[in-house]
Amino acid sequence: MITDSHKVTRYFKLAPDCYLIAGKKDAALYDVHRSRIMLLDKRAHKILRRCEDNVPLGEWLGNSGMHLLLTLQDEGLGSFDSAPAYVEKLLLHSPAQWKGFCIQPPSYSRVDWCITNHCDFNCEFCGSRGETLSWQSCQTCLRRNKTTEVLLVYNNPEELVAQIASLGVKILNIRGGNPLLALDRLQRILRAAQSYPELGVVITTPVTGRTLDPLLPLFRETVVQLNIIVFGLDDKVTKAVCGGTNVWQQQLAIIDALVEAEHPPFLTFLLSPLTRRKRSEYQNYVKYRWGIEPSFAEVYPRRDIEEGVRFSHVGKKTKPLSPWQSMDEFFSRIQSYSCTYGNFEIGLDSKIRPCAGLDQVCGEIVDDSLRVALSSHELYDIWEMGKTKVYPCNHCALRFACQDCIAVEFAGSQEPALKQAYCPFDPVNGRQGAHSIKWGPPEFVTSLRVKNG
Ligand code: SF4
Ligand code: SF4
Ligand code: SF4
Repeated sequence: MITDSHKVTRYFKLAPDCYLIAGKKDAALYDVHRSRIMLLDKRAHKILRRCEDNVPLGEWLGNSGMHLLLTLQDEGLGSFDSAPAYVEKLLLHSPAQWKGFCIQPPSYSRVDWCITNHCDFNCEFCGSRGETLSWQSCQTCLRRNKTTEVLLVYNNPEELVAQIASLGVKILNIRGGNPLLALDRLQRILRAAQSYPELGVVITTPVTGRTLDPLLPLFRETVVQLNIIVFGLDDKVTKAVCGGTNVWQQQLAIIDALVEAEHPPFLTFLLSPLTRRKRSEYQNYVKYRWGIEPSFAEVYPRRDIEEGVRFSHVGKKTKPLSPWQSMDEFFSRIQSYSCTYGNFEIGLDSKIRPCAGLDQVCGEIVDDSLRVALSSHELYDIWEMGKTKVYPCNHCALRFACQDCIAVEFAGSQEPALKQAYCPFDPVNGRQGAHSIKWGPPEFVTSLRVKNG
């Protein structure tokens, strides 16, 4: 009920760390400090929009509207005042970016370095980029193409390691194909990396094809972690996926030995049509046996996707979002593309690309030098391709709560069936609004509705 004290001379303003974000059809209230969002119905949005525009409270609010504002006040998300307040919240709504007089140099965090295209297996989906669609492929050994060995243009891997370390890179991820099949090159890189204790090294490999013995002394002296690509938990399944015999038995023995030696690897399951429903089974097994939380990546033929197959983290009406861990992380999401920011890939062809999953060439290593390769703007433009810049996510009220790599994959895409594989919500052409989707985790996304009256 509106009392005298709430009448027309009063205003309501959202707290400075609380943002009203509108999409094309929906709107959401972001409580940045407590890392949560509230999906608004049309009426709640209209009321809060008017409040943010400093429209004096009045009869237009109604009792249920006043109840909404009082609830927000009780939760510390806004307050009443006798004068309009002007809080600068343009950051989230303005396409213009503030640039300082001295622009900060780029901050590099991870380099994926493809050192070979060789592999002892023959997964059907590998190296067929045009016919497949993948998710998180940067975590795997998936190749761009199957050409046996493209000419390596750089001659001096030690020099490249030195340059990578001098950029302040934290993780050097060595991938292939199977880097163990380029043992000489791999050993040279690991030996060179020993001089840079700040540089963590990850080797992404199915860990088969060659014994690890020659590498073990280097593991002890360098901060090296194996990221083992796993296809399934029995030899029948792994044979069907990659064509190798006893693959799981070999991997099992190696993982057991690494865990026993207190050097547990990362494990990444590469799910494909045969194993796509096994996600929780695999996760439970690995957690129970070794106490390891595995990662998942997926790859499917495009024709399956066109027929309605989705990546296993989304459902027909469900989609997980990503709570931010700090205010800094939230603000960085607004202007950057979270999963590529700070990263680049060095390909076998010496080309620089944003990551192993994206094909856009951003530079090229010439004369073993990264300097020229990293001096053009293409890579940094992609780093800054936040969801405010790509269609259709720029029309979604949940765009700052979602970190799916769909943003770049589908920038300007004319293939809506493919987008559906990553996200069931269409913020532009979809018939149903964001309320029709079950977003997760449940404590992160709630709903704020205003009853009529
Ligand atoms: S094991 Fe990895 S690199 Fe080899 S074929 Fe399979 S996906 Fe490709
Ligand atoms: S877009 Fe992101 S998640 Fe996808 S492959 Fe690239 S870095 Fe990985
Ligand atoms: S992927 Fe889906 S939820 Fe995420 S911003 Fe795009 S439309 Fe919204």
